[in-house]
Amino acid sequence: MKRIIYIPFDHLHRTNGALKESDPAHDVIAMVESARMTTGRAWHKERLFFLISSARHFAKSLEDEGFTVEYIKDATTIDGLKKIEKKYKNIPVTCAEPSSFGAFETLREHGVTFIENDFFLTPRPLFQRWAKEQKSFLMENFYRKQRVRLNILMEGADPVGGAWNFDKDNRLPPPKSYVGAKYLEHARDEIDSHVAAELDHTPTTTWATTRAGALKQLKNFMANHFGEFGPLEDAMTTDNWALHHSLLSPYLNNGLLHASEVVHAAMKEFNKGTIPIESAEGFIRQLIGWREYVNGMYWYLGPTYRENNQLAATRKLLPLFSDPAATQMNCIRATITDINERAWVHHIPRLMLLSNLALVTGTNPQEFLDWMREVFIDASEWVMVPNVIGMGVHADGGAMMTKPYAAGGAYISRMSNYCKPCVYNPKLRTGDTACPFTTLYWDFLDRHKETFAKNHRMSQQVFGLNRLSDLPELKERAQEVLAGLEQGKI
Ligand SMILES: Cc1cc2nc3c(=O)[nH]c(=O)nc-3n(C[C@H](O)[C@H](O)[C@H](O)COP(=O)(O)OP(=O)(O)OC[C@H]3O[C@@H](n4cnc5c(N)ncnc54)[C@H](O)[C@@H]3O)c2cc1C
Ligand code: SF4
Repeated sequence: MKRIIYIPFDHLHRTNGALKESDPAHDVIAMVESARMTTGRAWHKERLFFLISSARHFAKSLEDEGFTVEYIKDATTIDGLKKIEKKYKNIPVTCAEPSSFGAFETLREHGVTFIENDFFLTPRPLFQRWAKEQKSFLMENFYRKQRVRLNILMEGADPVGGAWNFDKDNRLPPPKSYVGAKYLEHARDEIDSHVAAELDHTPTTTWATTRAGALKQLKNFMANHFGEFGPLEDAMTTDNWALHHSLLSPYLNNGLLHASEVVHAAMKEFNKGTIPIESAEGFIRQLIGWREYVNGMYWYLGPTYRENNQLAATRKLLPLFSDPAATQMNCIRATITDINERAWVHHIPRLMLLSNLALVTGTNPQEFLDWMREVFIDASEWVMVPNVIGMGVHADGGAMMTKPYAAGGAYISRMSNYCKPCVYNPKLRTGDTACPFTTLYWDFLDRHKETFAKNHRMSQQVFGLNRLSDLPELKERAQEVLAGLEQGKI
């Protein structure tokens, strides 16, 4: 044997990363299930189940191909690697560049040799060059460059459909009693059952744990959901938990699927002529725009970025984040219940409900980030940090996004069916039945008015405070709401 190839649990792709030029005749595969990863934090069991079972299935597929696979459990990754290195008389260890600063540093210190991380469509140095040329990091500018560079949805130099973006078509509220196409259920096998028993967990059938299952999910999305993806992309409804979202992020993030495969499948479907441009563009934007941009920004902004707390938010994590019964806010209760069930909700509940709540209540960004990391099926460090610190709670003072995504109940009422049965009224900002989001939105603006008055994208909202004749009552109500949220009564 000439090399040990170390495969982290988010590099599970046969033809990308360190396995690209591998050979069963002289490469040993090392995989380590570290206690730090499995028991280190209050991880959602569905998430642990997905990550561990996917890794064990992947190890088995390599064994079936003829590789020698050392899959071991140990206290830390390095402890595990040391044992494997000892067994193979210290032959060199190779790995594709890890996906987080922490893993990069740990493996570098241990002497691992890296090969380029090609799990994204944008090499890290290319993004760094783009970012260095920017005054502000507008995703839209990056995205248009990606369209041209990758030649996706282009007709010569022009965007297909005559526009770069169809956002205005993609903001429909949910139709009444909406029933969409069914979602796939993934059957469980022996490896799954073993992992589930070890974790004392009853897994859902939502998430595949094999490459074949991930490919089925991709096929199902293309056939049954892609066409309707765009218009309902931002809608939220208790009638249908995923609407037409692809549910592909877990596989993209652990390596079972590569972004190029998803883009290829989407373009193949679009080229058949049945997918409306607003759906095709909306989906492609998420993949070659947002996903690549967020990963690029993670590496560009550096390891200390996650510690930002520029709005000096100090509130402890509210009890409702771990217990949906600790709130009467219908939107939040439904969202936390969904997360408890399957470790997933789509981007709007993540942004406009959970992050918005953390933002307007002044919740400590790092406590909120840790919680988000623990409960989502697809939560990797590289993707959570910019999405939460930059986009979600504006803790970076606007380094990434030019304005905070703060909103009152009116937005949630427009984009969901949560408000009608709620004990609160999205239109009210004072009084016992005022919507907490509406009250806290104005209170948030008032608390930070000096900071935001200087921001040209926020000045109009801050100016709106002048029109509030009931600001003193509102501020009093905001204190009651915050106290009630802390006590689990609001
Ligand atoms: C506060 C916040 C936290 C988030 N945390 C994560 C996370 O931990 N992991 C994660 O993969 N996504 C995260 N996202 C992005 C997005 O919510 C999820 O990618 C999406 O909900 C996954 O479901 P899907 O595969 O059905 O996505 P779809 O709606 O079908 O979108 C297709 C793909 O686009 C990519 N994508 C879309 N938006 C983003 C984005 N903002 N950042 C990165 N990729 C994106 C994902 O790979 C996704 O699978 C977060 C967004 C917000 C606002
Ligand atoms: S009224 Fe407010 S708290 Fe209730 S569901 Fe609507 S937005 Fe959420």
